[in-house]
Amino acid sequence: MSYEFWSSKNVKARKPYRCCECSAAIAVGELHNYGAGKFDGYLVDQRLCLNCDLIISEGFNADFWDDEGFPLTEVRSTLRDEHGIDDAHAWAVERRQARIAKREDEAAATARATRAANEYRP
Ligand SMILES: [Zn+2]
Repeated sequence: MSYEFWSSKNVKARKPYRCCECSAAIAVGELHNYGAGKFDGYLVDQRLCLNCDLIISEGFNADFWDDEGFPLTEVRSTLRDEHGIDDAHAWAVERRQARIAKREDEAAATARATRAANEYRP
């Protein structure tokens, strides 16, 4: 069981949809994630609200899911039961913010190093 190919991007809904993970309504005009690809020989597609997309993305980043994919419709219960995460959204937001902060720290360190190198006069 694995993905042969997969591609996803954020799109605006041209008609009403439901999130494949949490069943929340996706309204016309609402930004959400659309993914499509081939899994186990079948062409499949899915629409995810941005909350679920964030949680699932952070699950991949945390190595909670592998190339067999994530447990669709059971992401929150899996995070709770297997990883002790009661509030999946808060967990995902915290992880995303920590990664952004780390990237900004690295960018600032690189800028400091570049400045120091440029100012260096032997
Ligand atoms: Zn959702």
